[in-house]
Amino acid sequence: MTRLVLVLGDQLSDGMAALKAADPDRDVVIMAEVAEEAGHVPHHPKKIAFLFAAMRKFAARLQDAGWRVDYTRLDDPDNSGSIPAELLRRSAHHKASGVIATEPGDWRLRAALEDMPLKLHMLRDDRFIATATEFEAWAKDRKQLRMEYFYREMRRKTGLLMEGDQPAGGQWNYDHDNRKPAPDAITFDGPLRFEPDAITSEVLDLVEARFSNHFGQLRPFWFGTDRDQALQHLEHWIAGGLPGFGDYQDAMLADQPFMYHALIGLYLNAGLLDPLEVCQRAEAAWKAGQAPLNAVEGFIRQIIGWREYVRGIWYREGPDYMTRNALGHTNDLPDLYWGAPTDMRCMERAVTQTAENAYAHHIQRLMVTGNFALLAGIDPAQVQDWYLAVYADAYEWVEAPNVVGMSLFADGGIIASKPYVSSGNYIDKMSDYCGSCAYRVKDKTGPRACPFNLLYWHFLIRHRERFRSNPRMGQMYATWDRMAEDRRATVLAEADAFLARMQAAKRI
Ligand code: FAD
Ligand code: SF4
Repeated sequence: MTRLVLVLGDQLSDGMAALKAADPDRDVVIMAEVAEEAGHVPHHPKKIAFLFAAMRKFAARLQDAGWRVDYTRLDDPDNSGSIPAELLRRSAHHKASGVIATEPGDWRLRAALEDMPLKLHMLRDDRFIATATEFEAWAKDRKQLRMEYFYREMRRKTGLLMEGDQPAGGQWNYDHDNRKPAPDAITFDGPLRFEPDAITSEVLDLVEARFSNHFGQLRPFWFGTDRDQALQHLEHWIAGGLPGFGDYQDAMLADQPFMYHALIGLYLNAGLLDPLEVCQRAEAAWKAGQAPLNAVEGFIRQIIGWREYVRGIWYREGPDYMTRNALGHTNDLPDLYWGAPTDMRCMERAVTQTAENAYAHHIQRLMVTGNFALLAGIDPAQVQDWYLAVYADAYEWVEAPNVVGMSLFADGGIIASKPYVSSGNYIDKMSDYCGSCAYRVKDKTGPRACPFNLLYWHFLIRHRERFRSNPRMGQMYATWDRMAEDRRATVLAEADAFLARMQAAKRI
């Protein structure tokens, strides 16, 4: 009997587990653009367009390869609006014996699939380098799950940048070379931009009609939407961007949204690029003398280290991870995250660039919008919904550990050994934002004091009991304790006033 083979929008890889387990002569592939997935958070229009166009092209690719594909477009009159409902509808039509699926990267959808009154064969997503079993074996008896040690295991497993059993160049990690402040000029001309083809143009019209109320600009639309374009994009970046990736990984410039970053998260996470092939390509560039070791090691660490590690944490911690709020933060996400005017130049740049590109690079996400949300005590659930909605590469399995764990410390320290908080000083050192900001980064108090300066101390004092014995934070508390008492009182009172203005939805 016919079985249905579910392929989700972020499962656009030829070798998906469900496809490998199916039989093109007997089974039918089911793909569907559904309102529930596009709208359960208000996804950026560029992200929706990217996924729908890539899905349509992948469906055509499967048909060319001999598969029968039942594809539901968003505006099909019979579209039932959710993945489980589409499977039920198609199952009745084909009198199917069951569904073969690859597990989704989202616990909500997984539960909905498991609740369907259909026989479900759910397969592990084997596009990751570490299996869940391997991650569990590594994690189970450790007190602390530090990424660095997991990363070394992945280097050994893949053989990437290994010379026998030793790391290439004698060191596992060249991060100390990768913290240079922003350069005056960027030599890379940025990501490859693609003209929308006929399929993409049709999708753009659809998304414009249906989702123009979502935050973010649909046009100009220039993402690649199939594997060939994703590979071209990768080659362009390897040649021009990779050599500078290491040195300036943490730097930010007001008019340079991409710096030397690869912008490959959206292609990797949708399945158009494979993590190992991308790393092998970067390693080959190093071997050919086209990129230095610190850049290539830093890049490979992001993928076989951080990307694999956060996936392992998400899987291991389960659905409850998304609800954690270890620091008890309850403030509402200010409207500036959705584009309301702000006087904070760094926040304005990060949010404006996010609206334009459905993209901000890691340090903007971590040390600007994430740092602010943590310092200002914003409810982690609201912050998660924002990150999940606005970035083209955002899916729960990768967004949640980065937001709940790395950025907000809401998991109580599973991912981060200390909170990623900083005053304005860090942002000033790593960017050119502060010079043209309405606030003054050097002011610690007073009407123009940088909010990051005020909130930094407010955060530390709010959570003194929790962090006072953290060996990496003792120095900060010692600095606070040395400050004159009246100055400390002023800092806290001004921070309180700032937070009250923020909660009253006044311009900040
Ligand atoms: P590059 O800087 O060029 O890095 C190359 C690749 O390394 C990335 O494409 C990504 O696949 C991987 N990588 C790097 N850092 C991480 C990380 N911390 N976790 C997982 N993979 C990593 N990444 C997502 O893919 N989706 C998200 O929804 C997401 N949300 C984030 C939210 C916050 C608060 C933070 C701090 C980080 C988040 N990240 C997320 C991680 C990282 O910021 C993005 O992967 C990266 O900015 C994507 O841009 P890029 O492709 O230019 O990456
Ligand atoms: Fe951001 Fe403060 Fe610098 Fe302004 S002064 S750009 S708010 S860090």
